[in-house]
This record gives sequence, C-alpha cells and structure tokens, in this order.
Amino acid sequence: MIQEERLVRLFLDLCAINAPALRESESVAWTKGYLESIGLDVHEDRAGEKIGGNANNVIAWLRGTLPDAPRVFLSAHFDTVEPTEGLVIEERDGVFVSASDTILGADDKGGMAPAIEAVHALKESGKPHGDVCLLLSVAEEIGLKGAEAMEIQELGLDFGYVLDTGPPVGSYVTRTATHDKLDILIHGKPAHAGKDPENGINAMQVAAAAIQGMSLGRTGPETTANLGIIEGGTAVNVVCPFVKIRAEARSTSLDELDAQVGHMVQRFEQAAAEFGTTVEIDHARHYYSYHVPEDAPVVQVAQRASRALGLEPTLRTTLGGSDANVFNAKGLPSIVVATGMEFIHTHDERISRRDLVDTARLAYQLLLEAARQTRA
Ligand SMILES: [Zn+2]
Repeated sequence: MIQEERLVRLFLDLCAINAPALRESESVAWTKGYLESIGLDVHEDRAGEKIGGNANNVIAWLRGTLPDAPRVFLSAHFDTVEPTEGLVIEERDGVFVSASDTILGADDKGGMAPAIEAVHALKESGKPHGDVCLLLSVAEEIGLKGAEAMEIQELGLDFGYVLDTGPPVGSYVTRTATHDKLDILIHGKPAHAGKDPENGINAMQVAAAAIQGMSLGRTGPETTANLGIIEGGTAVNVVCPFVKIRAEARSTSLDELDAQVGHMVQRFEQAAAEFGTTVEIDHARHYYSYHVPEDAPVVQVAQRASRALGLEPTLRTTLGGSDANVFNAKGLPSIVVATGMEFIHTHDERISRRDLVDTARLAYQLLLEAARQTRA
C-alpha cells in the first residue's frame, strides 16, 4: 500500500535539496541513505567522472522471489533544469508550488518520489515479484548524459518505465522524436564601419539572408525546427565579423528530419556563397527517437496497470526527449510514464498531491502487473 504522508514527505525532502545538473552529490547521498534505510541493495556507477559531474547514477535493487518474472525498472532523474537554492514550497488547495523565486523541481522529483515509494510499498506488501530495479540518473537535463554513461546492458533488465512527463496520470509516451542540434558560425570580414565599410562583409547580413525564407517552427506533420540563440559582432563601429547561431530540429520521421536539417544547412551555405564568405556548421544527432509497439510487454503491462486503477491508458507521441530515448537506443525497451508535473522548466511549475499519489499507486501497480508475466 502506498503511504500518502510518507510519499509527500519524501517528495518535499527531495525537492528541498539543490541538485542542478552535474552538482547532484548532496541529493544522491541523501537518497542513497533513504534507499538503504528501506532495505534496498544500493549501488553507484562511475558516471560522474565520465561526464564531469560530482555525482554518479544510483542503481538500487529489490531482489525478487519469482525468478521467471521479468526484471523491471522504474527510473527518474536527480537533476533539475535550474538550481533551487532557497526553495520554499507551499501546498495551495492540494497543489504543491514554489513560493520562492525558483522552480519547484517536480521535474523530476515528482517521478522519483513515487518510484521509490512504489518499491518501498512492494517490499512491505510481502507479495511475490521479480527483481525490481530503481535507475536514478544524473545530468538528464543537459542532454541525457547520466543515462548515456550508464552501463545498462550489464544489469540484465527486461523492460521498464521512466517517470518523467506531465499528466494525465495513466498515460504513456511510446513514441518520440530524433533530435538534432546545429551550431552555425558565419564568417564575416571586419572593417572600419566609417572609413572603409566596402572592405567588410557583414555576418549579420549573411545571417539575415539565410534566415529569410528558412522554414522554421512546425515544418511538417512530425517535425519542428528552431533557431534558439544568436550572438555576434565586436563593436558598433566594426562591420560584423562573425555571427554564431544555435539551432535544433526534431522529428519522429528520420526522412523528414534529414530533409529539414538539409534545408537549414543549404540556406546558410547559399547565403554565405552569395556574400563571398564561408560558414561552418557543426551538426550533431543529440538523441534518437523510439517507437515501442503497442503489443510489446512493456506497453501491455502498462495498459493493464492503468486500467486496474481506473485510469485511461492513452499512448502518446511527443517531440521531447527523456532517458527512455537512451535506454531504448541501448536495446532496453522503455516507455515514459506520465506524472503530475505541470508547467515544468518555469517558475509556475506545480504538482498536485492527488497526482503524486496516483503516480505512486500506478508505479506500484506496474510492478505487480509485471510480476504476473513470464520472462521472454
Ligand atoms: Zn525531467
């Protein structure tokens, strides 16, 4: 049985510890202590040194009594998108919000607390189950770095659930986008703006020519593209010698994504050529999409768990990324479980007590439903 007050206390305690990406050590130490105190077999990997952080991923086991049941995991991430130093949390009409000038951090403590409480409740229940694992990652918000560094193949897991998206609780993300990043450096040519501007090439004008007519925003049924950051220039009286632009594109269709990225690259190259200059473009595939079919055991178990609690087991597609992208890319079937976190990455972030409890009940039910399966 999920213990509501214990769950809320855990959520508030986790939120109270400042844990921006690469600086999660205090949160990791506290959580390890909690997991050990409830009798789990707790390990750390060596992700911190690989990614330049001060903390490692935590892998905690509740050993099972059913050797033929699938080995399943629940996952959430320690880091918050911004620091939360000085956070004051208030509960207003059953909704937890930040009363200070920071985010709340329900992303992802609103996933982590229910995952831990579910495993705790399963242990206390005395019900038969297979091996259950908590995968608690660092540095998710800066590009899924903790999950990337995790040596997940060694764990012998069959499938699992990443608690890391918004409501409605009971729904799941089974399909996501591939995400590309572009770093663009347009070379201009400096010259004195008053004395000999004709000897210069203005990189801002090159950028403007490239961006004029570039297809951005929602560029196709499954694709988005954005120019997010622009900087450049050295002084008001110098013809602009460089412009840097950081851009991204995402799509659930690799063909559409490749076409969109090709279009953006071509616009920059063509504009540079027209102005008699050059552009450097660094193109990186940030993470890969996944599409877990509805008949996969990880989805079947999830749908049964939602229905058992009277929740609607909708399967969703999103263009956002999570650790599930990395786990799937490494061959471990994973889907994202909706939690109560809303308005994430803003200071209006919130989560309701009811959704927090329902997420924990659902996570517990996922573990019970998995225990009824046989390993493939
Ligand atoms: Zn998150």
